[in-house]
Amino acid sequence: MSEQQPAQCAQCSRGIDDADVPVVRGDEWFHFPCWQVLFPADTIRESRKLTRRSRESLDTSRELVERLHALAPAAGHPELLS
Ligand SMILES: [Zn+2]
Repeated sequence: MSEQQPAQCAQCSRGIDDADVPVVRGDEWFHFPCWQVLFPADTIRESRKLTRRSRESLDTSRELVERLHALAPAAGHPELLS
């Protein structure tokens, strides 16, 4: 029995697994593409926040950069990767 809660996308009602990039908004979970469709303005804001954090913390920058690689092309902001 797993203690992990099964994450489900509030938009498409499909499961969210480790291969997906989840977005949590309040107590709702979304696939990144689903969240992007629902909240395009937040997509840009969150991408900028991740970029800023990656510069503040070298310890977590690698993980954040990997997340940005997943996020930025879908968000239409490839310039964030440079
Ligand atoms: Zn979804």
